[in-house]
Amino acid sequence: MGGSQQLATALAEVIEHAGGEVVGGAEVIRIAVDNRTVTQVQTKDGRSFSAPYYIAATHMGETLRLIDKGAFTPAYTKRISNTENSYSIFSLYVKLKPETFSYINHTCYYQHDYNQVWNLGQYHREDWPYGMMYMTPPNEQQNEWATHLIINCVMPFSAVEQWQDTQTGRRGEAYAQWKAWHEQRIIDRMEEVKPGFTQCIDHVWSASPLTVRDYYHAPQGAIYGFVKDCHNPLATQIPVATKVSNLFLTGQCVGLHGICGVPLSAITTAEALVGKNKIIEQLQNTAPK
Ligand SMILES: Cc1cc2nc3c(=O)[nH]c(=O)nc-3n(C[C@H](O)[C@H](O)[C@H](O)COP(=O)(O)OP(=O)(O)OC[C@H]3O[C@@H](n4cnc5c(N)ncnc54)[C@H](O)[C@@H]3O)c2cc1C
Repeated sequence: MGGSQQLATALAEVIEHAGGEVVGGAEVIRIAVDNRTVTQVQTKDGRSFSAPYYIAATHMGETLRLIDKGAFTPAYTKRISNTENSYSIFSLYVKLKPETFSYINHTCYYQHDYNQVWNLGQYHREDWPYGMMYMTPPNEQQNEWATHLIINCVMPFSAVEQWQDTQTGRRGEAYAQWKAWHEQRIIDRMEEVKPGFTQCIDHVWSASPLTVRDYYHAPQGAIYGFVKDCHNPLATQIPVATKVSNLFLTGQCVGLHGICGVPLSAITTAEALVGKNKIIEQLQNTAPK
């Protein structure tokens, strides 16, 4: 398998090699807390798990939803609830016809309107999207032709707010039409990049901010968690340790975002348990000179 799943598989192997177990497909429905201590985590399929320490790696909004009321102070809960979320995304997955689109070994960016390069998170239907990112994820035996293409366009949650009370597969005809319009708009933009692109398409699937919200349990489909303010970093900084003595936090809401940022934040959380610089030193000592 070629895609990003190989990272998850490699991480699971490391955990299992060290004697751990990865429990997939188990939705947590409650983090039970007694006297500012987590006592167990309960899953939708009726199981419960107990441990000396717990690390919440979900969006902080989801952690608040799951944890027993009163676990955190009202001030902390209010602060977290009022923190602004980053924008979401409309994403296209295109299955390509054989030998029609060259494999590209890097991510590509296309800016339709350079005047809006800092305003990608804004949404005006007629102008959307101002820009997009596309890539041809490699297969295991990648040759010169791509088999599929992912195209990501930033989109605020407000664009789909009218369907926020719907569920996947039952969002209604108006939503289906809205989605089809946005798929076509992205395909039109790709025609600007590669004339004749439509002829390369075998099939298209798309995901909207609602998909991201419901799939990742990320409030408002935020792809990067909470918005951070570079002018006032402390205002949005959330410590990895909490007032619940054995509960720690990780993930992009409490640290850096993205594929590179989140693993770095994970080190900060792990070091809160094993000791400052313990992991960094090990990494430095084992890294090739
Ligand atoms: C479509 C899309 C494209 C992106 N492209 C890029 C990119 O090109 N480059 C980049 O750097 N970043 C990209 N990002 C952002 C990147 O994915 C995030 O920054 C990163 O994954 C955040 O990691 P995280 O561990 O904090 O949260 P997540 O990756 O969201 O992990 C949280 C996990 O918790 C699980 N979860 C939530 N609630 C529960 C529950 N109740 N019970 C059990 N499990 C639960 C979720 O299913 C999820 O697996 C993209 C995001 C999206 C949505």
